[in-house]
Amino acid sequence: MPKGLWENDLGYCKICHKKLRPFNKNEDFKTRKFHISCWKELLADIKHYNKRAYTKYDHKKVVCGVTIDEARERILNGEKIIIDFD
Ligand SMILES: [Zn+2]
Repeated sequence: MPKGLWENDLGYCKICHKKLRPFNKNEDFKTRKFHISCWKELLADIKHYNKRAYTKYDHKKVVCGVTIDEARERILNGEKIIIDFD
């Protein structure tokens, strides 16, 4: 186990809030705020945000100021929804 694994001043990952560990193979950079794996996952999430926003981050699609589920429910209850296009 490399020296200083748990006692270091690297701080905590800004994504998962767990303690950062020093690198063993590559030289670390002083301003690092994330685990490499957390950073890579964040980049992948940004790349696929159009899908992951709704599955992983719990965003809701909004139509006419209401969520798509609520809009669907209103339409099924006979309510009319008017969609404006700018
Ligand atoms: Zn992390």
